[in-house]
Amino acid sequence: MIAEPNPREELRDLVRSLAERVRTDGELGRTRSYLIRAQCAVEAALTKRPAAATPAGDGQDPLESVREVLGDCRRCLLHRTRHHLVFGEGSPQAELVVVGEAPGAEEDTQGRPFVGSAGQLLTKIISAMGLRREEVYICNVLKCRPPENRDPQPDEIAACEPFLIRQLLAIRPRVICALGTFAAQTLLKSEAPISVLRGRFRSYQGIPLMPTYHPAYLLRNPGAKKQVWEDVQMVMQALQEERR
Ligand code: SF4
Repeated sequence: MIAEPNPREELRDLVRSLAERVRTDGELGRTRSYLIRAQCAVEAALTKRPAAATPAGDGQDPLESVREVLGDCRRCLLHRTRHHLVFGEGSPQAELVVVGEAPGAEEDTQGRPFVGSAGQLLTKIISAMGLRREEVYICNVLKCRPPENRDPQPDEIAACEPFLIRQLLAIRPRVICALGTFAAQTLLKSEAPISVLRGRFRSYQGIPLMPTYHPAYLLRNPGAKKQVWEDVQMVMQALQEERR
């Protein structure tokens, strides 16, 4: 028996094969980014979940449900040294989610993400994008501060990442921006450095994801601001295209 043609599947296969073909052509940098975003848009449309922040069956905001499940988390040893668990903040309907690495000292004190000097720079970057901070959702891979701001350990990421995934699926933003090596590597399951990952869109569960440098890195290396601005402009363009 001949199977009925499925236009949705055909469209998905067409975009995938087109994106794959262009992906192999390193000469077509800009076109490649465009096609990856097109692929993300089609995959997102074809695998459309319920609208972001649609209340769950019990009427509860899905993001609040994630927070409730996380609770007074003791799933890794970081709970012993934290002052506050930093879940994340911003709009549950955000079109853009920004994911950093982990809370620092100021964030640990206040229980809010990106409120230290790097956070102030992030707020300026968001503002330069024409957005208000409260319109965006901001969170980290780890919800608790590693002592002395040391690098996140694999077991800590393994324990905490499921909650980041649930946050992203609850919000289902149009674009994700991963700040710094750990956020980008965790979300993309890559070992490549941020200098290699940044600068073009990747796909995270059908959502376009732009890796770029962490604002804390920019404070130490102001020369990298130009590259971040290039990345951020691509994010702005993608958001505008998604709104059309
Ligand atoms: S870092 Fe994440 S997994 Fe570890 S205690 Fe904090 S919330 Fe729990």
